[in-house]
Parts: sequence; C-alpha cells; structure tokens
Amino acid sequence: MLPWPRHDPETYAEIGRTARRFADEAIRPLAAELDRDGRFPSELYRQMGELGLFGVAVPEAHGGAGLDVLAYALVMEELARGYASVADQCGLVELIATLLSRYGTDAQRRRWLRAVLRHDVRVAYCITEAEAGSDVAGIKTRAEGDGAGWVLNGSKLWIHNAPIAEVGFVLARTDPAAGHRGMSIFIVDLTGPGVARGPKEPKMGQRASPVGALDFTDVRLPADALLGELGRGFHVMMSVLEKGRVGIAALATGIAQAGLEAALEHARARRQFGRPILDNQGLQWKLADMATDIAASRALVHRAALLLDHGLPANAACSMAKLKAADMAVAQTAEAVQVFGGLGYIQGIEVERLYRDAKITQIYEGTQEIQRNIIARELIREGAAT
Ligand SMILES: Cc1cc2nc3c(=O)[nH]c(=O)nc-3n(C[C@H](O)[C@H](O)[C@H](O)COP(=O)(O)OP(=O)(O)OC[C@H]3O[C@@H](n4cnc5c(N)ncnc54)[C@H](O)[C@@H]3O)c2cc1C
Repeated sequence: MLPWPRHDPETYAEIGRTARRFADEAIRPLAAELDRDGRFPSELYRQMGELGLFGVAVPEAHGGAGLDVLAYALVMEELARGYASVADQCGLVELIATLLSRYGTDAQRRRWLRAVLRHDVRVAYCITEAEAGSDVAGIKTRAEGDGAGWVLNGSKLWIHNAPIAEVGFVLARTDPAAGHRGMSIFIVDLTGPGVARGPKEPKMGQRASPVGALDFTDVRLPADALLGELGRGFHVMMSVLEKGRVGIAALATGIAQAGLEAALEHARARRQFGRPILDNQGLQWKLADMATDIAASRALVHRAALLLDHGLPANAACSMAKLKAADMAVAQTAEAVQVFGGLGYIQGIEVERLYRDAKITQIYEGTQEIQRNIIARELIREGAAT
C-alpha cells in the first residue's frame, strides 16, 4: 500500500496548473529559439522565482513553497513539457536549496537561501571530475585546513551552470586517508581569485543549460564555507540525490508527454492515402503504447515521491523511477519522431529536439547502470527492492 499524499488534492492541482500555464505561455514558445541559440533564459527564471516555482519542496520558513516532493515532481513534469532545460534549472535550484535548508547553519541559510530561490545568484553543484564520474568516491579535489579556513585545489567537469554561476557547492577531500568518509562540501565564490572556468561545452540536447569545467588553484575559503559536518560530504550529497532522481524522472516524463501531444496533433493533421494518418489503427496503437508507457513512468515517479514525503525507505524506488522514466523518454520521443516521418528528423521541429533532450536523462544524476546497481543492491540485501 502506498501512503496518501500529505496535502489536499486542490493544493497539488493548483501548483500543477501554475506550472502548466507558465510552461504553455512563457516557456514553450521560446523552446526552439533557446535550443537553437543555447541561450540562458534569465528572464524566465526571474518570473519562476516570483511564481514560487523554485524550492517547491523546501520549507516555507526557509523561503520555499513548503510543499513536498510529489508537488515538486508535478512541477518538474509540467516545466519539462515546456522545455527540459528550464526544468533542469528548477531541479538544480531545488537540490542546492535542499542542501542549504537541511545542512546549512542559520548564517548560511540567511546569506544564500532566498537569493538562490529568487535566482538572484546562479548556482553550480560540483561533484564530477575527469577521473571520477560514476565513482564519486574517486574524486581528487582537495581542501586543506590552513588554520583560518581552507585552501581548495582541483578540477570539476561537466558542471551545470559552470560557465555563468556565481556560487559553487563543491565536494572535496578533507581527509584523503578516510575514503568516502573523508569528503566535505564547501560553498565557493566562483567569481573570486583562483577560480578558472572552461568554455561552454557544445551539447547534443538541453542546450539552454550551460555546462563546463571549473578549476580551483589555491582558492582560499573562510572556515564558514564548510556546509554540513566535516567528513560527511559524500553522505550529504548522496542524501539529496534521491530527491534529485525523482526530479529527473519527472522531467523525463514531461519530455515524453510533450512528444505524445505533438505526435497526436501531427497524426490528426497529416493526410496520406486520402485520409489522416491517425485513421490507421497501427498508428493509434503506437499512440496508445506511448500513453501507457508515460503513465507507467508517472506512476513510479509519484510512488517514489510519496515514499520520500513520508520518510519511508525510498532509495530503490527513486532509482526505479529514474531508470524507467529515462529509458521511456528516449524510446517514446523516438516514436514521436517516427509519427512525424521525415519531418521529425528536421532541425527546429519539436520532436527532433525532444529526442535529443531526452538522452541525457539516461546519463546525469547517476547513469542507468548505476540506478540498476542501487536497485540490485537492495534486492540482494533485503530480498526485495521497494
Ligand atoms: C549535460 C551534463 C550535465 C551534467 N551536470 C553535472 C553537474 O551539474 N554536476 C556534476 O557533478 N556532474 C554533472 N554531470 C556529470 C554526470 O553526472 C556524469 O557524466 C555521470 O555521472 C557519469 O559519469 P561519467 O560521464 O564519468 O561516466 P563513467 O562513470 O565513465 O561511465 C561510463 C559508462 O560506464 C558505466 N559504468 C560505470 N561504472 C559502472 C558500474 N559500476 N557498473 C556498471 N556500469 C558502470 C556507466 O553507466 C556508463 O555507461 C553532467 C554531465 C552532463 C553530460
């Protein structure tokens, strides 16, 4: 049995409607241009901050909407239906705000939380390195105590917002002998001395989300740059990734939903053999299969969200949602391209973008193989993966 949602149905309907309206009116009309030019849409993020679409599951006392992960998943799906890069930014802000809300000191929360949620400062979540992707415990970036604070050295790779962010939340080794128990998180001013940025990487999809490298050379950090307990950084980063995976799963579901809607509209309008292609039962079945697969993914997303919202074990559930939804999004956006025929392969057509945007959901926030490892670990240890 699944637990019930924590809020009344109208609360979820209202936040979902707000996100859908914003996606339809403000995001979707810009999506093709943002994809073509790789432009970072600051104006959309300012409006989202005002509408309360950042920090949906962050407590009100900390500047969030005070709702829950289920509401956050609804918002992520609707935003991604408009354009995945915009949902991606919402997911990044939610992760950083969750870190600050759960683990920050009062002073850190006062300094950063509201600014992050209003998108007055742009943030980056910095884990991956050239030699440490899936194997997070293999990072080499080092923070050494110098009496007054810390000195940071190392490099991060493929970091969202790295080309533009003002603040980085950086995972670094503080005790190299202690393995994953010797890592800590630091709040780093990315505009300060010793920080260098690589160029914006050209990407297959989600092109309005700038990604790049960050190099840290003798970056001096004050003592209060440490976020959370010394040596607990790996645990802290991983603890927010459960919510992160639900967010990416919802985002993938939204991409696929946009593909289904575009495919249905095209199938009604396009005529071959003297009638709409939608009149062919084979095509109707394709659309029925797409809708069923999307609904199955959505159900897994909501299930994982509900478990998290009730504080129940949700590690495997979050991985299952991400695994299913990301594979589904790639498969079903390919089907949407198929419904468009040759037109679906042409740049600037929505389904062509959706297909490219879907692929990264199988890679970031833990690859599909790592999700399977997590599910299998629980299955083998507990005899069942829930
Ligand atoms: C667009 C984009 C945005 C990103 N944003 C961020 C960000 O904001 N912050 C950040 O820190 N990182 C970010 N990343 C990095 C991303 O999280 C990593 O790319 C991802 O975790 C995989 O690491 P890797 O690329 O090094 O692949 P690798 O770890 O080298 O994996 C290569 C392949 O081997 C498989 N593999 C590895 N280990 C195992 C295993 N034990 N069992 C089975 N298969 C395995 C993987 O599944 C994959 O298929 C981003 C990446 C991209 C491309």
